[in-house]
Amino acid sequence: MITSFNPATGETLATFNAHDDAHIEQTLAQADRAQKKWAALSLSERLPFLLNVAKTLRRNKESLARIITLEMGKPLTEALGEVEKCAWNFEYYAESAPGYLDDLVIPSGATDSRVVYDPLGLILAVMPWNYPFWQVMRAAAPVLVSGNALVLKHASNVPQCALALEDVFKEAGLPSGLFSTLLVGAAKVPALIKDPRISAVTFTGSTPAGRQIASTAAEALKKQVLELGGSDPFIVLADADVQAAAAVAVKARFQNTGQSCIAAKRFIVEAAVADEFVDAFCAITRQLVVGDPMSANTTQGSMARLNLRDELHAQVQASVKEGARLLMGGNPIAGSGAFYEPTVFDHVLPAMTVAREETFGPAAAILRVSNAHEAIRIANDSPFGLGAAVWTQDIDLGYRLAHQIQAGAVFINGMVASDPRLPFGGTKASGYGRELGMLGMHEFTNIKTVWRGPART
Ligand code: NAP
Repeated sequence: MITSFNPATGETLATFNAHDDAHIEQTLAQADRAQKKWAALSLSERLPFLLNVAKTLRRNKESLARIITLEMGKPLTEALGEVEKCAWNFEYYAESAPGYLDDLVIPSGATDSRVVYDPLGLILAVMPWNYPFWQVMRAAAPVLVSGNALVLKHASNVPQCALALEDVFKEAGLPSGLFSTLLVGAAKVPALIKDPRISAVTFTGSTPAGRQIASTAAEALKKQVLELGGSDPFIVLADADVQAAAAVAVKARFQNTGQSCIAAKRFIVEAAVADEFVDAFCAITRQLVVGDPMSANTTQGSMARLNLRDELHAQVQASVKEGARLLMGGNPIAGSGAFYEPTVFDHVLPAMTVAREETFGPAAAILRVSNAHEAIRIANDSPFGLGAAVWTQDIDLGYRLAHQIQAGAVFINGMVASDPRLPFGGTKASGYGRELGMLGMHEFTNIKTVWRGPART
């Protein structure tokens, strides 16, 4: 049984029977057939479908955003932005795919030699609940436009989002089976990966689950893209615009109720400006409005599940015991919803729990350092390597530091964000492979060399 519940109230919204083996078999067979027909279409025949998906998302934006908010508790204003971003992504790939999938002619000793991009086939997407539309759609657009089909196994706490996504593709007129949702638990994933009709897997979620998926896929020799956890550093150097940095820092930590892989989680601040940064950061954090995620004024909603709130609270309590200085928050909010106080720690040391582990909720850790060199050392002293931000007015220094940070993205004087135009992904325990942009699109193609003779040299 798969249960949809509202984490802001604790109320059960709906229950679904998990799909059985016969349904899984039927879905894979249909998806396989649909993919072969889809791949036989020309790119220009596929593109209008992508634009229809974008239009369908926009047409249903309000109702889709409400499903997101109901099932995972983010403020409705943020859910509306999420649906809009999905629509943009489909438009972006409709516009860019022709260039990205063009043959790449590479002079060699041949009469003609080139790289062509063929589809891989049927892609399994195992996805998390935190951006229940965006995570799926950022993978789906490039996967589909390049001639693949996609089977989604979504997180078990967002079944209505999973079904709503399938409906979007139906309403957009996409051939049946090209995008399908399986309502199944994690235990079904290994068999899906091993199924001969599945060519590759794209996974977004926690590092432990990624490790298991990688190992199953490696055994079956199937390609994987892994988008895993993060503990992004947000470095503020002494010459930075501290007030601007603090305002962006609060957004970078607390948006999506702190449940973002690329949320800034460790604020590494040069001692000379640390007091000013801490004062500004706390003042802006105090302005957050925690409450009913459906209300237009709310800026911090409910966490997605009570057990996730319990995990965050255990990390907060451990950090207090370890000597981190709690400046505000630090407690669950009483009531039936999974609300948590916006929480800020100062004088955090790298070995403390809030700095060492990924904190997936509204808790910020501020670490004070004496110079840029120490900031980089501490930023890299983490198993994760997803994103990072550096604030400095010395742009040359910003670029030099960007090279030294072990991460899949470094944002200078900004906050880490995904953008359809830019490749997105991590290094170290944050995963491998890229999504978005041209590079993300090529991940799920067979990059094939075609050589034509006679040889000229
Ligand atoms: P999760 O527990 O790993 O679940 C993600 C998905 O994997 C769900 O569909 C889940 O299914 C499935 N799953 C869980 N354990 C599995 C296993 N052993 N084998 C196969 N599938 C398994 O992660 P989450 O709590 O939903 O999401 C939060 C995590 O995702 C955080 O660590 C966050 O940083 C990461 N994340 C990373 C990115 C990125 O782009 N790098 C983006 C967003 C989130 P069930 O729900 O049925 O268990």
